[in-house]
Amino acid sequence: MQKYGGTSVADPDRIKSVAEHVAFTKRHGNDVVVVVSAMGKTTDNLMSLANQVSSKLPGREMDMLLTTGERISMALLCMALADIGVDAVSMTGSQVGIITDTVHTKAKIVEVKGDRLREALAQGRVVVVAGFQGVSTDKEITTLGRGGSDTTAVALAAALSADVCEIYTDVTGVFSADPRIVPQARKLPQLSFEEMLEMAGVGSKVLALRSVEFARNHNVPLHVRSSFTWEHGTWVRNIEGESPMEDPIISGVVQDASESKVTIFAVPDRPGVSAAIFEPLANANVNVDMIVQNTSREGHTDISFTVPKADMKVAEEIVTRVSKDIGAGGVTHDTDIAKVSLVGAGMKTSPGIAAKMFRVLAENNVNIQMISTSTIRVSVVVGLSNMESAVRSLHTAFGLDSGTSYSAPLPERK
Ligand code: ASP
Ligand code: MG
Repeated sequence: MQKYGGTSVADPDRIKSVAEHVAFTKRHGNDVVVVVSAMGKTTDNLMSLANQVSSKLPGREMDMLLTTGERISMALLCMALADIGVDAVSMTGSQVGIITDTVHTKAKIVEVKGDRLREALAQGRVVVVAGFQGVSTDKEITTLGRGGSDTTAVALAAALSADVCEIYTDVTGVFSADPRIVPQARKLPQLSFEEMLEMAGVGSKVLALRSVEFARNHNVPLHVRSSFTWEHGTWVRNIEGESPMEDPIISGVVQDASESKVTIFAVPDRPGVSAAIFEPLANANVNVDMIVQNTSREGHTDISFTVPKADMKVAEEIVTRVSKDIGAGGVTHDTDIAKVSLVGAGMKTSPGIAAKMFRVLAENNVNIQMISTSTIRVSVVVGLSNMESAVRSLHTAFGLDSGTSYSAPLPERK
């Protein structure tokens, strides 16, 4: 399985170069299925067109529109393949039997049939599938949400029990930090599904979160690599039981400036207030991320949480209304925040990572506003102006600059 993102098929030359690579793979004796994204900024441009003719953006028609982007790519790639003597056939999501639920513009895959795909492969053909789309249980065309071509590729790889799902993109792999912030960031040779899930969940843009979930659930090995250099990239796979001693405790630092913070002051401390706040947010599909509630003093407490900036307006309306209903003191919001996360499977067995992280931030004068953790991640919310220095200092302090893995200092002997 090979998936090519928008930049990989952005113009005719790129498409020809992808065709060469598909031909090369095929001639080495592999069955090849290709999933393509829309060329370059096509999806953004289609959305902008839609916005210019409508404020309603009916979901069914949006999906009709957006799926055309991937159809252009698949047809052009098949033509380029024909020119170099590769027998290839393009198919839409519907034609390969990607069955989804009925939620337009963010449908979930419920089944992958793949019969036509298997038939074509058996005839020795390369199949090029339009990413990001399927057909609903109501027989309507659907899309899988932005970045959904990754999910198409992983779902098809799972259905066909592919040896590997190669994700070709414009970076050479998954890095220990964003190289635009940390120039000495290194390409990671491999990551576990759990680490990649955490990274995608806290803001890494390399792979769509749902595609990683799918890959983990169906144990599909992923290889994230560049279609510009064709060098080996980062493997994401099940590495349980393999010499963990050689793996660094910390794999990477990830930043995300796409969220805002909402604080509700002087919330009466009684059963039911949190439900009263978060239920209407959930019903409005607002994606609440970190939540912090202080212990109560004199029967009142403050509650802060983060939401995507895109959901901020809706969230504020709801929270302002609810805060009056429950007799809270008021609502403020802060858009100048960033989340900085440290991710590493080695945290499970290595205590003191969070403490060291907080010390490093303190020494760099970074004030921590919120904290949340999982077994293999520590995230903090800091001021936006502190984001870059936080990422850089953590990258250095945890030994990621030099590639020497950080090991927790042994407790002092008494
Ligand atoms: N073309 C779609 C998007 O831009 C799907 C994808 O590229 O994965 O979101
Ligand atoms: Mg993408």
